[in-house]
Amino acid sequence: MTIKAQEEVDRWNREHDVGTRVHYWKGVRRDDRPRSGEALTRSPAQVLPGPAAVVWLEGMPGPTAVVWLEGVPGCIALSHIEPVSIDTDWTPLPVCPTCGAEDEEWHEGLSSDIGDGSTWDLKCGDCGATYVVTMCLETTFSTVIKPGKATE
Ligand SMILES: [Zn+2]
Repeated sequence: MTIKAQEEVDRWNREHDVGTRVHYWKGVRRDDRPRSGEALTRSPAQVLPGPAAVVWLEGMPGPTAVVWLEGVPGCIALSHIEPVSIDTDWTPLPVCPTCGAEDEEWHEGLSSDIGDGSTWDLKCGDCGATYVVTMCLETTFSTVIKPGKATE
């Protein structure tokens, strides 16, 4: 049981940073039960030891893979959270892929020679994660009638 919980913890920590935005369920998680809310993780996942017993008894809670969430008292089992999918493609502002925060100050400290396809690192002001942003410029056109030709 300990090994299974540890594997769950390792997998979560490999794939998710602290500050990941998740949906969570308090109490029993069932598909027909609405989730309790949305929050950011505030710790890496870790194994919460079960009762200090040398033998695991049937029905006794064993070690559980858990994580702590911002603004939520107590820990939540990894089986009761689910990362929120964050839309990070073709957005008007860079969006942190960890917590979903938009960065309105993305241009600060950049040199003026950035352009289409430029890539640089941004540090999220909300969760502190560093992510890579690629600038994609869209080409648009404006036209006016050439002066003097309109009435020909
Ligand atoms: Zn963030």
